[in-house]
Amino acid sequence: MSTTTPTPSSSQLNADLHCHSVVSDGTLTPEVLAERASANGVQLWALTDHDEIGGQHRARAAAHANGMDYLTGTEISVTFADNTVHIVGLGFDPDDEQLARGLSLTRGGRGARAQEISRQLEEAGIPGAYEGALKYVGNPELISRTHFARYLVEIGACRDTSEVFRRFLTEGHPGFVPHQWATLGNAVRWIREAGGMAVIAHPARYRFTANEEFALFSEFKKHGGEGVEVVTGSHTPAEYGTYADMALEFGLAASRGSDFHSPEESHTDLGQLPPLPERLTPVWDLLAHRIQRRAALT
Ligand code: AMP
Ligand code: MN
Ligand code: MN
Ligand code: MN
Repeated sequence: MSTTTPTPSSSQLNADLHCHSVVSDGTLTPEVLAERASANGVQLWALTDHDEIGGQHRARAAAHANGMDYLTGTEISVTFADNTVHIVGLGFDPDDEQLARGLSLTRGGRGARAQEISRQLEEAGIPGAYEGALKYVGNPELISRTHFARYLVEIGACRDTSEVFRRFLTEGHPGFVPHQWATLGNAVRWIREAGGMAVIAHPARYRFTANEEFALFSEFKKHGGEGVEVVTGSHTPAEYGTYADMALEFGLAASRGSDFHSPEESHTDLGQLPPLPERLTPVWDLLAHRIQRRAALT
């Protein structure tokens, strides 16, 4: 029998609770991602597409077919202190209607935003970027900057997607379009009321002052947020330590995830990061009752 009591070694579990498929801005299907995760030794997996849960049933089936346990997942775009913050949701009911409506609203402005990104790129001497980006889009409701980045690499405007985000699509560069995403309170509420746990994604990526970061963590807690990503493909090893301390200071559980998007673009593959520091409470200990277990082998 499984038990919900945390074991001392649960931080050693190979859990990868952050990655993207063609349902948002990844290049692999949920099925191919599941095979890759399992081949890399992942034992507990979550697919966390941006502002989308359309791949959840496929991902769970593929996880089980590949011998992994599964947690439902998504990564919600939020506007906080004039910046974009990402909130991962884990272990929610994938058929929850309020969550689906909230995500649909959050996706809603992406079409018009993409047209404006394209207009700015045209002014910068790059015509046809909207149509070019669309060729990479797997979900018509989810056109993202990543799809533009792939097109800019395709036409030779930049060598790789990292260069794109240094020269285009970010603040102060052509193709940056400020956007109002979900509020922090709504994102956390949709996840919680669907039975899941809200987790601050890759906190080191935000260019916040210390005061703004404190406000993010405090308000997140106040809204009922319970976790923070500590070991992620977006953090340096030094940042694992910084955010391990933050997790303890704010009484948050810790998560681990590669944020894998594509074999060509991602420097961190599924399941390859170091384990969580032992001194933290893994999110999967608190979510034990929400894990969809693979069929027990007999
Ligand atoms: P969007 O949701 O349309 O604003 O697109 C955000 C996505 O762009 C992120 O989820 C990443 O996949 C990608 N992205 C943002 N910044 C960078 C960066 N500096 N390098 C590589 N990818 C990035
Ligand atoms: Mn992405
Ligand atoms: Mn993110
Ligand atoms: Mn992500």
